[in-house]
Amino acid sequence: KEKLVEIINLKKYFHVGRNEVLKAVDDVTFEIRRGETLGLVGESGCGKTTCGRTILGIYNSTDGQVLYNGQNVHKMSSSEKVKFKKGAQIIFQDPYASLDPRMTIGEIIAEGIDVHFKLKESERIARIDDLLEKVGMNSDFRSRFPHELSGGQRQRIGIARALAVEPDFIVCDEPISALDVSIQAQIVNLLIKLQNQLGLTYLFIAHDLSMVKHISDRVGVMYLGSLVEITESQELYRKPLHPYTKSLISAIPIPDPKVEEERQRIKLEGEVPSPINTPPGCKFVKRCSYAMDICGKVSPELKEVEKDHFVACHLYK
Ligand code: SF4
Repeated sequence: KEKLVEIINLKKYFHVGRNEVLKAVDDVTFEIRRGETLGLVGESGCGKTTCGRTILGIYNSTDGQVLYNGQNVHKMSSSEKVKFKKGAQIIFQDPYASLDPRMTIGEIIAEGIDVHFKLKESERIARIDDLLEKVGMNSDFRSRFPHELSGGQRQRIGIARALAVEPDFIVCDEPISALDVSIQAQIVNLLIKLQNQLGLTYLFIAHDLSMVKHISDRVGVMYLGSLVEITESQELYRKPLHPYTKSLISAIPIPDPKVEEERQRIKLEGEVPSPINTPPGCKFVKRCSYAMDICGKVSPELKEVEKDHFVACHLYK
């Protein structure tokens, strides 16, 4: 598949305290292919949200590049930026905080339409209603306010707002984490349906591997600012290579009690180290039961160890 977004040695550091640096995204390289869903997972604080926002240019990068259709996102002219924002959108985690409570649903959805399209009022209303329908709602909602809606309905509005400018690419930043479990599957199914209808490309950020499995073609795993493994979704679940990925996968509950009983859970040792003072060498070294001498000294590079299966670990040559 053709590459839509290329992330090359991307770094995003934040200065904290006096002389300390938080390496939220620390030399990350991967690609997002046109029409796919790439899941990006890891514990909170691993840098996945910062990575998504730096890809969209919401944050400047500290170093490295993000190419969207071959064009450097962080070096665009202002007119190129307007065009980029039309193509690349975001759906936020918290549907309660991300919608302006003073605006009607119609006004919220129309914001992007008004920036990018010059429409007559009747066409504008028709477009809003069409978007409401696309996300499983109807024109009755156009004059309502966010506080009148449930969490799931609000997230549907967040999706309609992103779709309003006809994007190719959407960063879905933990779009289901704040929702009830019963609603989560509905939103995921809606995202899948829209992707099939509109040919969208998603970067789907989540901390929960079990839901990512249902939506992703490929999955990348982040740990303390580094991408430690990335491959096709089935392959990752069938054959995780990085010790951290193995522990994440072994923590996913299996509904069948028989399988659950026989299964060996891999417990992580130690605490998540601070992202401010990351250890030298492999960042996972303090929690890894396979750690060797070299692990504390040399940082492992992300390498393709099997076809389209990349891992950053000294266990694999
Ligand atoms: Fe464990 Fe070493 Fe691999 Fe890091 S590089 S995950 S410490 S074996």
